[in-house]
Amino acid sequence: MASVGTLPALDEELAALRAASAELYDLGHIGELLGWDQETMMPAKGVSWRGNQQATLSGVIHERLTSPRLADLLKRLREVAAGPAGRLSAVDRAIVREMSRAHDRAVKLPNALVKELAQATSEGAAIWQTARAQSDWGMFRDALARIVDLKRRVAEHVGYAGEPYNALLDEYEPGATVEQLGPMFDRLRADTVTLLGKIRDSGRTIDRSVLEAHYPVDDQWRFGETVLGWMGFDFEAGRQDRSTHPFCASSGVGDVRITTRLNDRDLPQALFGSMHEGGHALYEQGIGQAVHRSAIGGGVSLGVHESQSRLWENCVGRGHHFWRFALPRLAGVFPEQLRGVEVETFWRAINRVEPTFIRVEADEVTYNLHILLRFEIERALFAGQVSVDDLPALWNERMQQVLGVTPPDDRRGVLQDIHWSFGLFGYFPTYTLGNLYGAQLWAAIGRDIPDRDEQVARGELGAILAWLRQRIHAPGGTYLPNELIERATGEPPNPCYLTEYLNQKYAAVYGF
Ligand code: ZN
Repeated sequence: MASVGTLPALDEELAALRAASAELYDLGHIGELLGWDQETMMPAKGVSWRGNQQATLSGVIHERLTSPRLADLLKRLREVAAGPAGRLSAVDRAIVREMSRAHDRAVKLPNALVKELAQATSEGAAIWQTARAQSDWGMFRDALARIVDLKRRVAEHVGYAGEPYNALLDEYEPGATVEQLGPMFDRLRADTVTLLGKIRDSGRTIDRSVLEAHYPVDDQWRFGETVLGWMGFDFEAGRQDRSTHPFCASSGVGDVRITTRLNDRDLPQALFGSMHEGGHALYEQGIGQAVHRSAIGGGVSLGVHESQSRLWENCVGRGHHFWRFALPRLAGVFPEQLRGVEVETFWRAINRVEPTFIRVEADEVTYNLHILLRFEIERALFAGQVSVDDLPALWNERMQQVLGVTPPDDRRGVLQDIHWSFGLFGYFPTYTLGNLYGAQLWAAIGRDIPDRDEQVARGELGAILAWLRQRIHAPGGTYLPNELIERATGEPPNPCYLTEYLNQKYAAVYGF
């Protein structure tokens, strides 16, 4: 046993760090479970109680993260990590990196601010539910103003180079800045506008009525679970429930929960919602044993997480090959609604491009324009160029300029997304990063599995999942996003793949 004053062996220090990391993992996942319950099961009067619980939990996590003992441990292990290579495994080095990152961020935030933010967002989410349902911006206004004010204080405490918004972005996509994303997003906007022009000029109109027949929700629910099974979702390590806004929450690799919402006059909503959240869930269910229950025991960033959901939802789920297999089976569930419908007709219907109000229902082409709008508004809000009171009018004005449509009410405008009520500013850009990464991964899968499309057309999705498991899921947070994408695809993130994928696909859909 080490005597007082001597340094314990490196192994003991690593064991202590792993223990602290495992405990924080547990506390964080308890929070996810509380959040899942709030959105799916909790009775209305539970709101303030849940707010207290989340605030207490956030306080406990913050205390643990900022403890002097952890600070000492990290100081010594950072020195080892910075020393000669080979003393730490890739996994241990990554745990030191992630724990340091979380610790550094936490010590900069006063405990009182963390608790107040947890309380404000828990209550804010509940207020948003009602405000959105009643399309009542005024009801949500004060709650949002409080959250924005708290997030501004967070940015000031955390610190940033350039704009305050960078402090918020970095929380979800390590290293991302407005200076880096801005030009990339501008280029994507220009490419998207060009593609939309070609689609318009094709003169082709697509009839979507087959998707708007009456589809009883219980049958939709069962078919959605069937599709999740094809994807490889493990129902013994997860479940699906209903919520206002679809999401995926993990309480650990063995318990990953997703939600969807159902509409008996809109078949794609629940189906692609399930495939999207299922993609997130496969990532969490596939985290490797070597990184389980640690600071790197989950998806490495929100952008990479979103690449998984978009790949399954769009590259697989909205692909022609998938429906050669899936349509006869869907028609088995809905024989009346789908009698005589050809794969070609169905595939075109689910890929119709049309500017709409709602981001989560947007087609693949216009989707990124919704994100670019939010990126621009959030950036201006935190730069102090616009105020909370400007948001509803600004939203509608920019929607008209960017997408050519004006939401008829705030429910379909500024109130549509839950994110701001949770304080998730800087989060939306990761959706477009996910599309960029997803298209690049899909291209790499096509190179590595030459008969990828034929396999999909036979309903065989196992090789695709195995490819993702090995290269993306298993390492968890071992490698930062850029390195992970480069290891998986042979090159760093490259936005050309998304433009190429969209141009090719929509040339076929619209015949130009
Ligand atoms: Zn997602």
